[in-house]
Amino acid sequence: MTSKPIGVAVLGLGNVGSEVVRILTENAEDFEARIGAPLEIRGIAVRRVDGDRGVPTELLTDDPAELVGRDDVDIVVEVLGGIDIPRKLVLSALEKGKSVITANKALLAEYTGELADAAEKSRADLYFEAAVAGAIPVVRPLMQSLAGDRVNKVAGIVNGTTNFILSAMDETGADYAETLAEAGRLGYAEADPTADVEGYDAASKAAILASIAFHTRVTAGDVYREGISKITSDDLETAKSLDCTIKLLAICERIVTPKGKERISARVYPALVPLNHPLASVNGAFNAVVVEAEAAGRLMFYGQGAGGAPTASAVLGDLVMAARNKFYGGRGPLESKYAKLEVAPMGDILTRYYVSMQVADKPGVLATVAAEFSKRDVSISTVRQHGSGDGARLVVVTHLAADSALSETVASLEQLDVVVHVASVLRLEGTTV
Ligand code: NAP
Repeated sequence: MTSKPIGVAVLGLGNVGSEVVRILTENAEDFEARIGAPLEIRGIAVRRVDGDRGVPTELLTDDPAELVGRDDVDIVVEVLGGIDIPRKLVLSALEKGKSVITANKALLAEYTGELADAAEKSRADLYFEAAVAGAIPVVRPLMQSLAGDRVNKVAGIVNGTTNFILSAMDETGADYAETLAEAGRLGYAEADPTADVEGYDAASKAAILASIAFHTRVTAGDVYREGISKITSDDLETAKSLDCTIKLLAICERIVTPKGKERISARVYPALVPLNHPLASVNGAFNAVVVEAEAAGRLMFYGQGAGGAPTASAVLGDLVMAARNKFYGGRGPLESKYAKLEVAPMGDILTRYYVSMQVADKPGVLATVAAEFSKRDVSISTVRQHGSGDGARLVVVTHLAADSALSETVASLEQLDVVVHVASVLRLEGTTV
């Protein structure tokens, strides 16, 4: 005897939604066997219902709210994008006790508390594996596999567009604007690339990762953010000379302040990464996340961080979990926020800096520049001079120091007569250079 079907509403039929519908339809029997009951798509919400959308026309609707509210819908898959409209739809589904699967990092990073509260109240599931690093299982490992461990750090490359651009700049020597244009032509960058290249997308993912890794609510606004739009081909050349490459990193970690207080840090910025670091070899549009946990040690997750089918894989994994919970009873993990750790300001974080500046080519420049670092107790690791005359460039790499001291040093360097301009400032991650 066939069990009663579980009704699914799919909101969105774009890159991700169309793959979700395709795989669900093609592998319907496998899904039924894995869940114990068949999944039935009750409707698919889109903006344009006309034309051939590759799915039965009777499933299409341009009224997602009506679809979500239908009595025969048990689970809602939200793959629309945007914030305001999906927020209302997801909340309305959760309030009605319907489980929600979403790939929407921007929504979660802004409204995780509100959504988690609604899910908790109605005892519905809220799953979001696809919201961080596409196909790569990282949300479930952090929430479930590592639930018995203490995670100290999560650092990763979580944005494929910026990784594609930085890898291509590294490989070809081309400049940022040229490489961004090429990424657009190849479909790796959107027409408006701001969310990716300015680090907003990675910051949303960092907020989600920090929340689940440290059992604390963290929103996108808590995440320190810098993008890659100021990275030059010179920076990548210098990185090479230091046996490094440049990656846009999302870093979430526990820190202890000088006063012994436990805090967390969540930050996104382009950083020099030594070539022997596991993240240095993650190239092109691939993503990777390194997790450091007390008992487990270092774990690395690597794979396709975006794309219709890879993202659909993560969405469908969540859908199977939510459907099994509906069928057998029970719930997936709730939001864990008991630790309530404060987020430390960026100035308190210990970092290493690489500072590249155009300088006057005359005696005493090095001593004047070095004095600015030592005034703020920032110890210099290496200094190199490149070029001469008008093209003289000084590259300073520091030891660990408070980010605020390093920022003040850079600000004061810009005021010096001997410094024509500070061309580039980057942080260093990983081992010594
Ligand atoms: P997309 O290709 O732009 O598709 C969006 C879909 O939603 C379209 O089918 C669109 O309808 C529909 N839609 C948008 N607003 C709507 C509204 N107000 N009412 C009804 N339908 C509406 O987006 P996507 O790339 O699939 O991404 C979807 C979500 O997944 C986003 O939250 C994104 O951040 C997340 N995500 C995407 C990827 C990826 O690789 N693409 C990876 C991870 C996470 P029309 O087709 O009629 O325009």
